[in-house]
Amino acid sequence: MDGDKAVAATSPFIVSGSCLCGAVQYSAEAPPRSVHYCHCSMCRRTTGSAFAVLAWWERDQLEWSGKFRVYRSSPIAERGFCPHCGSPMVLAYDGQSEIAVHAGTLSNPNVFPPTYHYGSEARLAWADCAMALPAKETRERF
Ligand SMILES: [Zn+2]
Ligand SMILES: [Zn+2]
Repeated sequence: MDGDKAVAATSPFIVSGSCLCGAVQYSAEAPPRSVHYCHCSMCRRTTGSAFAVLAWWERDQLEWSGKFRVYRSSPIAERGFCPHCGSPMVLAYDGQSEIAVHAGTLSNPNVFPPTYHYGSEARLAWADCAMALPAKETRERF
């Protein structure tokens, strides 16, 4: 175990995060590949907010402690949430090597600002943050 700690201590980049209650935690040694807003209706509902902010990693880059529960949210994707406190944690498309973490669960989300909007066709009229960023429409809608 000491060996593991030494590796972690000397790693150049450690990212961590957790749900509200702390039962589900994760860490990564690399920054996310991308971070973006998602305005789709499913992200809106799962967060209970105007939009989600998603940070994408390769699945094997994330180390988990505690288990999230999985809900199939569409024919092509599943979402994971903390079974104890209900915090939305992840979005994963079937058969893809990447997984998105809800950026609000990061210990320091300020380090990874979103760089574009996704699902822009569904953006709420009053969700007028970061209007200068590029916007893409949802590819598949359910
Ligand atoms: Zn929790
Ligand atoms: Zn979405």
